[in-house]
Amino acid sequence: MGKADRVVIVGGGLAGLAAGIELLGRGKEVTLFEAGARPGGCCTTTWMGGYGFNDGAMYVALPELLDAAFEQLGMDRQALLPLRQIRSLQTSRIDDGGAVAFGAGGRVTFTPAAFGADPTGAQVDVARLVERWQPLLDLLVKEVIVRPFSLATLLRKGWRELPKLRGTVADELERMVRDPAVRSALGAVTLYTGLAPQRTPVMQIIGLIAMLADRFYLPEGGMGRIPDVLASRFESLGGKLHANSRVQRILVENGRARGVLTAGADVKADAVLSTVSGMGTCLHLLDPQVVPSSLRRKARNAPLSQKALSIQLGLRTKIDTDSHFMARLPRMEDLDALLRPAAGPARWLCYAVPTVTMPELAEHGGSIIECYPGIDQAVAAQEWTVDRARGIADGVIELLSRWHSLDIAEIRVRSPREFQADLGLYAGAIYGLSPAASAMAHFPHKTSIEGLFLAGQTTYPGYGVALAMLSGIFAARAIQ
Ligand SMILES: Cc1cc2nc3c(=O)[nH]c(=O)nc-3n(C[C@H](O)[C@H](O)[C@H](O)COP(=O)(O)OP(=O)(O)OC[C@H]3O[C@@H](n4cnc5c(N)ncnc54)[C@H](O)[C@@H]3O)c2cc1C
Repeated sequence: MGKADRVVIVGGGLAGLAAGIELLGRGKEVTLFEAGARPGGCCTTTWMGGYGFNDGAMYVALPELLDAAFEQLGMDRQALLPLRQIRSLQTSRIDDGGAVAFGAGGRVTFTPAAFGADPTGAQVDVARLVERWQPLLDLLVKEVIVRPFSLATLLRKGWRELPKLRGTVADELERMVRDPAVRSALGAVTLYTGLAPQRTPVMQIIGLIAMLADRFYLPEGGMGRIPDVLASRFESLGGKLHANSRVQRILVENGRARGVLTAGADVKADAVLSTVSGMGTCLHLLDPQVVPSSLRRKARNAPLSQKALSIQLGLRTKIDTDSHFMARLPRMEDLDALLRPAAGPARWLCYAVPTVTMPELAEHGGSIIECYPGIDQAVAAQEWTVDRARGIADGVIELLSRWHSLDIAEIRVRSPREFQADLGLYAGAIYGLSPAASAMAHFPHKTSIEGLFLAGQTTYPGYGVALAMLSGIFAARAIQ
């Protein structure tokens, strides 16, 4: 293959923006097409009536990874994107009884004090859990995730850690944490994977350890500041960013990508980098006749992540809570109840109150509540009607109003239909691939179609704000 001087990027999420900056830094001519009205994809903030609502990502876990991605792009993250730590982490009321709270430094408290049989023991267990997983966390953050995947590095540096990776999050919590209430509160943290702890591969416990190790942050100004900073660097380097420009086809001739079709016109390029999921790229953007059968099979059989219903409330008054994440939970063995619609009146819910950490997200004071209640995963994205979504939202609001006084100024409800149509998420699956999928399910950065490259959350290293950026950097580096 000759040198690719002109590169077209499909999709202006974090992967596309990071890839663009990397390519511009190497002197390429880069044109980026974004279907939405602005770049950022799943990491934007929408302001409604003075409330800054997340469109997707809610927090930055492990800011070291964001630092590494920025550094690889020659950008100073600390100067460009100040972060604020989420300090009052989570309060969970268990089984309609007392509450377990995790604060800064993984501090555990019980309310009322007598609710937990042994607060000191619980503190010791949480500290031991963090200590046990910290070496793997460090290895992933410093050596593995920040570079293109290398099995050799993983085996050479991580052989001591690999035996820990057998089993599930539930197995690990059963083994390490004696108090059932604390187990439930910890198990609920990994529900963002869309899987019950009994079905969540133990590797995903890293997200929980990140929280307990004080590694959850918000960018000053909200999540949307991340793509803002990247888009402005992309444009200052001479990148051409076209918003409201959906790519209809990636053009392939004689086995080689030669550009894209957008708004009825051909745009020629020496290489095309698609950050639209591997499934969307292979099954929607390429002519079926040019997709190699192995890639088509991978796309058709891809294990998809969960679909989600998002409910966001802008409240005129401050609600009575001092934790960023709030939960009403059953015991750990029943946490899967939070992942499906309640059979009777709902009792359980996890929700975030981002204004606890960042009050200015409610410009005129007050609070924001954001939650993702369990929904029927068998309902396809296009079957989600406004009424169906609103019916669930009404139930959630009723439940929340039993615990807090809600003076609601703004309500935003988005169903899998909107996640598919507005954010371009394939089949409405919020992370693309299931967090339980093996690394083998990832799509390659360099495909078997010459000149066609893939990045984004369905490629290595996977979903997440910093990880999507890193995937863009790795894919861009595969372009000569
Ligand atoms: C609800 C939700 C909550 C999340 N919570 C967190 C969290 O708290 N922390 C965290 O780290 N991560 C979180 N994530 C994951 C994280 O946001 C994503 O992994 C990451 O932002 C994905 O970036 P990306 O560039 O790969 O894809 P995307 O952000 O999906 O970007 C792809 C872009 O391509 C555009 N596009 C699609 N089709 C076309 C087309 N044909 N032509 C042109 N453009 C097109 C889309 O509009 C989109 O802008 C969450 C995601 C969701 C959806």
